[in-house]
Amino acid sequence: MFDIHEIREGFPILKQKVNGHNLVYFDNGASTQKHQSVIDSVNKYYSYENANVHRGVHFLSGLATDKFEETRTTIQEFIGAKYAHEIIFTKGTTDAINLVANAYRSILKSGDEILISEMEHHSNIVPWQLCCQASGANLKVAPINENGELDLDKLKKLISKKTKLVAITHISNTLGTINPVDEIISLSHSVGAKILIDGAQAAAHFKLNMQKMNVDFYCFSAHKLYGPTGVGVLYGKEDILNMLPPYQGGGEMIQDVSFTKTTYACLPHKFEAGTPNIAGVVSFKSAIDFITSLGLEKIKLHEEELLNYATDKILQINGIKIYGNAKNKSGIISFILKDTHPYDVGLILDKMGVAIRTGNHCTQPIMDKFNLPGTARISLAIYNTKEEIDVCINAIQKAKKCCYKMSTINKIQQEIIDEFNMFEDWMQKYEYIIDMGKELPPIEQKYKLEKNLIRGCQSRVWLHAEVKNDRLIFYGDSDAIMTKGIVALLLRVLSEQSPEDIIGSKLDFLDKIGLKEQLSATRANGLASMVKQMKIYALAYNN
Ligand code: PMP
Repeated sequence: MFDIHEIREGFPILKQKVNGHNLVYFDNGASTQKHQSVIDSVNKYYSYENANVHRGVHFLSGLATDKFEETRTTIQEFIGAKYAHEIIFTKGTTDAINLVANAYRSILKSGDEILISEMEHHSNIVPWQLCCQASGANLKVAPINENGELDLDKLKKLISKKTKLVAITHISNTLGTINPVDEIISLSHSVGAKILIDGAQAAAHFKLNMQKMNVDFYCFSAHKLYGPTGVGVLYGKEDILNMLPPYQGGGEMIQDVSFTKTTYACLPHKFEAGTPNIAGVVSFKSAIDFITSLGLEKIKLHEEELLNYATDKILQINGIKIYGNAKNKSGIISFILKDTHPYDVGLILDKMGVAIRTGNHCTQPIMDKFNLPGTARISLAIYNTKEEIDVCINAIQKAKKCCYKMSTINKIQQEIIDEFNMFEDWMQKYEYIIDMGKELPPIEQKYKLEKNLIRGCQSRVWLHAEVKNDRLIFYGDSDAIMTKGIVALLLRVLSEQSPEDIIGSKLDFLDKIGLKEQLSATRANGLASMVKQMKIYALAYNN
């Protein structure tokens, strides 16, 4: 379809190595990488074109203004808006939604309703909560089903003459669900409500046409379209924007100011108070030009192919569950690997150069709905390839092995903590430790060597390690029975584990059972020396 190699050449950051591996960047839902033309455009702007916009009579001010306004008309065409002045530059999607929500504080009255959905990003929830608090309106939430699709029947029941505004995401940043926005727009208009679509995840992936969609407000951020951070767009229909009060006061947005009365500038300036992010807006045009040169139809096909490929491959991994299985889905895959925390998966993947997102993705209500601590999320972009998906799948397999083995170390630690919790006092716990020492077979004479003695212990402690089937087997002993019991505890947790996991293990149980507190400073040092020696063995065998 297009030369993916050439596309990747346009993104210098993708050539980087991360942790010694080729970077695989799958966090595009959070922010995409920047095309060279965007970077050049920022450079050129500050090197040759910089001045404040809309103010000066001098050459550079005129040039900067022309460049700034060129982006506006480029975006007008890009999203099929009727007029350029319907494009308001903001800091991003969040800022655009806040602009509208702020304006609606003075439009809504008590008893009016705003309708959102359960899959919204926090930036399409909190501004409406603030708006409701200020105006006395009520917030209604349309639920989603188990596949992560909007429940349209329930949405229809929630929408009524009381609904003054519907605010829905075009694509869920967590589930990848593409919402049937055309249907929701008609529904909203049928009860006289206005509708805002959060297009943060859509604008880089679909051909949009504001006039055909007949949407009232549409928001997106440049940084998710291969453009700069700190710039976004609020599209609004001319007549509605004219009706809204200004968001922020200041320079640029006024017509006349006196201490008794101020009149506001016409669109779009009424909503663009203060000096904007001029370099950002100017370079945003390069990002749009890049997307347009490839063609959104082709981009969509490429990303769909990647999504299908990645979904198939991921589902082949035993123990993985994907959250978000809508029929109509874009290039986002949120998943959980059984018995692991997404954060651990993300960290291990990062060690292999694969950048994914972990956490709640600013959609806590979705996490609550599915009772999840968070998910690991892959989000795709135009420069991604099937080979990168293979690298990621391989990394997930490795993470799975690593996490599952790690969890055995943690499980054993938990068993010990549970056992210690059953005792009433430290006398009983000491007896238990001594019993463990008695049960530990004495180390063979051939290992009772000077070189196997642990330095820093009050009594003599021997530790020897061998590798069997990639696992490290420890043998230990001490001539003091209490110390031997502590050696037995450490062996129970760390013996027969892989060197990798021993190195990465945190022996929290020593704190949790209170052993460290009980020991004298010298004994605690002895314990630390034992742990250190076990990790040194693991490091030696890992190399
Ligand atoms: N809505 C959605 C669906 C998003 O994915 C994001 C960004 N993750 C936002 C809103 C907020 O965008 P920004 O941080 O650029 O304002």
